[in-house]
Amino acid sequence: MPSQIFHPGFKARPFWWEAYAPEALAPIDLPREARVAIVGAGYAGLSAALALNDAGLDCIILDANEPGFGASTRNGGMVSGGVNVGKRYLAKPMAPEEAAPFLGDAAEAFTHIEALIEREKIACHWTKAGYFLGAWCNSHYRDMEKKIKALNANARSGAYIVPRERQREEIGSDYYRGGMVVERAAHIHPALYYQGLLEIIRKRNIPIASKTPVTKLTPTGKDWTVTTPRGEIKAGDVVIATNGYTGDVTPQFKRRVVPIGSYIIATEELSPEIAASLSPKNRSIADTRRVLTYYRMSPDGKRLIFGGRAKFGQTDPVDTAPILYGFMLDRYPQLKGVKITHAWTGNVAFTLDEMPHMGKFDNLHYALGCNGSGVAMLSYLGFQTGRKIAGRVNRICAFDREDFPDHPFYNGNTWFVPWIGRYFRTRDWIDRNIG
Ligand SMILES: Cc1cc2nc3c(=O)[nH]c(=O)nc-3n(C[C@H](O)[C@H](O)[C@H](O)COP(=O)(O)OP(=O)(O)OC[C@H]3O[C@@H](n4cnc5c(N)ncnc54)[C@H](O)[C@@H]3O)c2cc1C
Repeated sequence: MPSQIFHPGFKARPFWWEAYAPEALAPIDLPREARVAIVGAGYAGLSAALALNDAGLDCIILDANEPGFGASTRNGGMVSGGVNVGKRYLAKPMAPEEAAPFLGDAAEAFTHIEALIEREKIACHWTKAGYFLGAWCNSHYRDMEKKIKALNANARSGAYIVPRERQREEIGSDYYRGGMVVERAAHIHPALYYQGLLEIIRKRNIPIASKTPVTKLTPTGKDWTVTTPRGEIKAGDVVIATNGYTGDVTPQFKRRVVPIGSYIIATEELSPEIAASLSPKNRSIADTRRVLTYYRMSPDGKRLIFGGRAKFGQTDPVDTAPILYGFMLDRYPQLKGVKITHAWTGNVAFTLDEMPHMGKFDNLHYALGCNGSGVAMLSYLGFQTGRKIAGRVNRICAFDREDFPDHPFYNGNTWFVPWIGRYFRTRDWIDRNIG
């Protein structure tokens, strides 16, 4: 099967890069000093820079690669205004009063990205079509029923339950045991959103240095010396916005985020009838399986973009494409024989409490930990970080907390991740067949 699934024009790179691919920018002279140095030029880093610039503070953005090289041009483009406060793998479900502020700020993250795209007229195919979350097993469906009230009260989600017999209204498949619709959700072209942010940065003349890794951060009095192969910068504050690409330069954060590969395939253009049937309301779709899948139509409605945790750990996307293809056929047997034109991967960053975080630690500001869902959230937390440095916040964001947990047995080495994958697959099997 494997070789037959690839289209003759197959590319092992993101489908999104057909519209906008990250490119190295013309080298700039690094300033000797900047009020703020931002490490990482994804959504979080650019959003922090915009907030600082709004407040009249100068900053420089540094990226080890081409800006946009990270997850910000590789993701599924599904935009949600929620955060997982319920059943998690390592943390207990939160009580409603504990969850409410997080859900409130997650809803604000959605408001932020929607307003930004509209205000700046970023042409990124913003489509507010909601999402459908398929229940992998009966117990997950029952959990959804319990969760909906809090989602609607605190995150303004517009959520409602969809019993199995009405599932075909949402998805051209009988695969799930019912599910839930969240109306307050959207999808975008992630690389065009990134390009739009980058254009604003460049229009405002905010300096951005590509192919300039930060190799050392040294406290010097109240300031920082930021070392790169192209020179040093003295900065009053530093923002770490490296998410799933966090490396040895910040071991204190490397110990707190677990980078996990997420994988996506794009199909060739489908026949109009099949394309129209897969997601009849053009919703984004995800499921409650531990070995999660997420999918949606391309902005032109002609292809399926299908992602998931095909493997835990970082692997060649060409090797994982057949696994994703199998997952896709489980849900949509009607796609048998359809070819794949693109397959790619990128890193998401899990945190040990499965929550996103921003704050200040060891005197470094950070916005980290998307847990797989960071288009809205990390745009928002980056922005909030910039505002906080500029002294422009009038309330503390719920995700700005002192406790950013680490674990005595985790130092950034992810040897155990494939074992978690095996455990998840077993638990999924048990839930599906017994749950
Ligand atoms: C395959 C995939 C699918 C996803 N799907 C979705 C989705 O559908 N919806 C959703 O909400 N989220 C999704 N996500 C998550 C989302 O893409 C991320 O949360 C978000 O893009 C993170 O943005 P960021 O700016 O924090 O980090 P990134 O965009 O990852 O940028 C980090 C940057 O830091 C740079 N860097 C690292 N170390 C250094 C250093 N020492 N010096 C300088 N620069 C450095 C890297 O080069 C990189 O460019 C997905 C992620 C992946 C990988």
